[in-house]
Amino acid sequence: MSEQISDQTSERVIEGLRIHIDRDLCVCFGDCIEAAPGVFEFDEEDIAVFVNEAGTITREELIAACASCPVDALTAFDQKGKQLAP
Ligand code: SF4
Repeated sequence: MSEQISDQTSERVIEGLRIHIDRDLCVCFGDCIEAAPGVFEFDEEDIAVFVNEAGTITREELIAACASCPVDALTAFDQKGKQLAP
């Protein structure tokens, strides 16, 4: 279990989806940032974090961005806790 589960750098609710970034898994490929530049960015360690002022994105785009991570570092859950990505 992550110690930072509710840390703003690792988990946030966007468009009704709970998005979790596993910062230990992230290896800086940047696919999520290309897919959703208004949501994800690199921090100073080149690990994905949430953009502070999130841009506009649809649920479908957000799920696709989470699914694009090659190491499954991004997980998306709906309001009932059902995992939608990866
Ligand atoms: S796609 Fe995955 S590995 Fe790449 S920056 Fe995003 S979270 Fe990290």
